Amino acid sequence: MGLPLPSFTKGSVSEHILSGAITLSLSPDQDQILTHFNWLMDSFSKANYDGDSEMPPLLICDYQSVYLRCVALPLVDERFVDDDRKAYCLLLYRVMTTLCLTRAFQNTLSKASLTSPINEFIEHADFGSNDLISQSLQKVFQILRPLLLEVKGRITFPLTKFSKDRQGFCSVQEMIDFTKKQAEYILSHFLKFVFMLNKEVTKTDLTVDEKYTFQMNDIIGIHEMIVGKNGGDFAVMASSSRYFLEQLILCLINGESISEILTTETFNWRYRQLLNLPKEYDKLFSAFFGQKCENCRRPPKHQMLCLLCGSLMCLNRCSEGSDDRSSETETYVERHTISCGAGCCCYLSLNSTMIVINYYRVAVLWGTVYMDSHGEEDRNLIRGKPLFLSENRIKQLQRCWTTQDLENRSNLRWFSLDQLSLALKQSHHNI
Ligand SMILES: [Zn+2]
Ligand SMILES: [Zn+2]
Repeated sequence: MGLPLPSFTKGSVSEHILSGAITLSLSPDQDQILTHFNWLMDSFSKANYDGDSEMPPLLICDYQSVYLRCVALPLVDERFVDDDRKAYCLLLYRVMTTLCLTRAFQNTLSKASLTSPINEFIEHADFGSNDLISQSLQKVFQILRPLLLEVKGRITFPLTKFSKDRQGFCSVQEMIDFTKKQAEYILSHFLKFVFMLNKEVTKTDLTVDEKYTFQMNDIIGIHEMIVGKNGGDFAVMASSSRYFLEQLILCLINGESISEILTTETFNWRYRQLLNLPKEYDKLFSAFFGQKCENCRRPPKHQMLCLLCGSLMCLNRCSEGSDDRSSETETYVERHTISCGAGCCCYLSLNSTMIVINYYRVAVLWGTVYMDSHGEEDRNLIRGKPLFLSENRIKQLQRCWTTQDLENRSNLRWFSLDQLSLALKQSHHNI
């Protein structure tokens, strides 16, 4: 189940992630990072997630982002010496692997649907010490068990109401096996991320051995590359799991919505993929007809649709938003590119069918992915014939986006973002 190796070329996805973090940490208001982290902790402990309006708190669904946000500032701050940086990142890694293991327990407990194996699991489960993961799980469980025993009467198991999420574990052994699998799964995503981030920051390439370990998804091997040969197991900071579980239990006692997140959230480190587009252009156009701009809350004259998150916004500057940072020339598109795509974002201009790729202050017209039944383009919708999604073009775009292969395409002409509006208007002249 190996993940694709992120490339090291300029403009790679990992570079965007990193530059996004750096942008955040270099902002004039450095307290932002701290505020962000506090917000994370806060949202988790209060469980103010109400189903659809907010994202689930990162601490329970996205350890890669939590880690990145915590290390971003030290990584770029000149006041840290390299050794301190390493020590800090390693400490955080230790805390986070413990959280990954704690999360594996939560996954098992929240998906289990029969009460008696749950009780037996809490009382008697033993992971042994056959391998590093079992040994680490056992250490964490020793910390968690007293707490679980204490609250068993206050939380009603099973947690899940939806049968599709349930696992009908019949025995403690089944629950143990499931927990191990979950731990491997969660750790493998997290470890790969940390390892690649280290490589990216130190600007070193993978050795042949490292590449092999990475591709083989050898969790223990990757762990050793991060912490060193005698760096101990995944639960060196086992005691920190108690705090995490305490917070979680508080959430469960205070509100039920969190249990839904627990049972449905999956752990995937995904590239920011482009949204799926409908076959007919008409459908797309009418779906967004009359919709309001995310920033100014008015229907845009020229609609830009973000293909990463589905947000709709004005092409031109609209300053009605409450945000007072907007400058004379900055458009919402520019700001959205930073916040949504960490500096690089892909848009569809609904009025012209053109795909726009925006990289900080520059943009490029990639072309269109919609064509008429004869395979011809209709930029700016001048001919008005029905347009259909071109399988070939969308594949090309997706490939181009995933590999971030933009600079090597000689036919793409980058221009200043200020010229985007004009370029779109004239796009039908230069097919
Ligand atoms: Zn607007
Ligand atoms: Zn977006």
